[in-house]
Amino acid sequence: MGEIERIAEEVIRRLGASRPTPAPTATRTTATATIPVSVSARHIHVSRGVLDRLYGEGFKLTPLTDLGQPGEFASGQTVTLVGQSMRAIEHVRVLGPVRTYTQVEISGTDAVRLGIEPPIRRSGDLAGSEPITLVGPVGTVRLSEGTIRAMRHIHMTERDAQIHRVKNEDLVRIRFSGPAALVLENVLIRVSKSALLELHLDTDNANAADVRPPMTVEILHS
Ligand SMILES: [Zn+2]
Repeated sequence: MGEIERIAEEVIRRLGASRPTPAPTATRTTATATIPVSVSARHIHVSRGVLDRLYGEGFKLTPLTDLGQPGEFASGQTVTLVGQSMRAIEHVRVLGPVRTYTQVEISGTDAVRLGIEPPIRRSGDLAGSEPITLVGPVGTVRLSEGTIRAMRHIHMTERDAQIHRVKNEDLVRIRFSGPAALVLENVLIRVSKSALLELHLDTDNANAADVRPPMTVEILHS
């Protein structure tokens, strides 16, 4: 064997040795189904009583745009949020329909601006959350609690849950690709009958992953 052939053979042998052994198909991570991403800007859900005080007795929210989840809409109404230190954020969108409780959902950046420290919570879990003052065109409401940073979550039906191999209340990991590729943990699975399959992120989370809808993510199973 000539010198050149010997070197060539050695190179080929080393390349072969350094090549990773492919994982057996059965144990390989399979995350082919993807989930659309939706970004939630700061907003408020209002109770009948709070809407009455902010906008007037019996006031009806005017639907502006349908949101992804069936029946939910962004209304033409907004409120001003005022934190303890008198710092405010104006034009915070009111979402409809009216709920049994009032809940303010803001990002961590919004919280800094207002000078408050809302906890990361799932929707409706408001005990001991941050106080806030709401200002509407006809009145003001001081809430002793109700401001949260919404825990990131994925809405889905039972059928979607089967496809993605998860169940209600699971906390999963998701992966974003692209220049700001990111893995997020503790993403809550929320299964309901009429849900539209969607990941909901606040603007801080979305910006960290450089989310530009339409965009999809996958749940990591490992
Ligand atoms: Zn949601």
